[in-house]
Amino acid sequence: MTIQNVTVMGAGVMGRGIAYVSALAGFHTTLVDISDKQLKDAYNHAEQTSQKGIKKGKLTEQEAQSLLHNLHTSLHFEAAMATSDLLIEAVPEMRDLKRQVMEKAEAHAPKHTIFASNTSTISPTELASYSKRPEQVAVMHFFNPVHLMPLVEIVRGLETSDQTVEFIRQAAEQMSKETVEVNEFPGFVTSRISALVGNEAFHMLQEGVATAEDIDKAIRLGLNYPMGPLELGDLVGLDARLNNLRYLHETLGEKYRPAPLLEQYVKAGRLGRKSGKGIYDY
Ligand code: NAD
Repeated sequence: MTIQNVTVMGAGVMGRGIAYVSALAGFHTTLVDISDKQLKDAYNHAEQTSQKGIKKGKLTEQEAQSLLHNLHTSLHFEAAMATSDLLIEAVPEMRDLKRQVMEKAEAHAPKHTIFASNTSTISPTELASYSKRPEQVAVMHFFNPVHLMPLVEIVRGLETSDQTVEFIRQAAEQMSKETVEVNEFPGFVTSRISALVGNEAFHMLQEGVATAEDIDKAIRLGLNYPMGPLELGDLVGLDARLNNLRYLHETLGEKYRPAPLLEQYVKAGRLGRKSGKGIYDY
């Protein structure tokens, strides 16, 4: 099946990036949110990112124009779903919310629509259980920042069909992404590792092992990570990181219990780059 219309639900850190690469791939892309401000910020983000791309020689003027032409924003989820070939949901990592989105999407979508979730941790079998079309549900896990990170993890649930996996692979490849296929396990491959590393860095900060700057520097220069785990936490969003850990703690056990200092930062509204203050100030 050819893909024409893509709906991205949630215009936050990830949704805006996914909508950007989708529009750049030539898909008619509708980015939906409950917040008009998030939609405006997301469109501005697309304009700015494409301008930077032109300056760096990664994008032509014409590609940028066609990207912005393909990108639409809307507060009306039902209308967007009515013509959607592919839904990619990127609402916060809360199971009740994911359930509401899945049920609402399905009620308004054509029969052939594929339902993909950008969840970092939640089981696709569980997400599919909210749907009457479980064979059309899978996880399509992008990475932050979406326009730069080359991977999409495709995670199949118990009832995900081969056609659905192929459809998502085709969409990801058209968005110039590499893919890996992962079987149903909470946290998949990447979030399972990065949640542990990020949590351990918070424990070290809490215990006074070193300053945040030195923890990040040690991991960058000593272990050859492109970013330290604390600066990465600020980029990802500390609330998103905490939600991931809570889910993994519940499903995989004690080693994922969130560090108390991380809980405290989120309680204080220090969410990272998106709130102007996290482990570092922005
Ligand atoms: P975010 O908090 O930055 O953005 C979420 C957006 O969803 C907000 O714009 C919010 O207004 C919107 N929203 C909330 N309720 C909604 C609803 N009912 N309908 C429509 N929109 C609604 O979150 P994020 O960091 O972009 O994370 C989104 C998903 O992507 C999560 O499942 C997360 O686990 C996953 N993820 C995040 C990262 C990351 O680096 N942040 C990486 C990979 C995957």
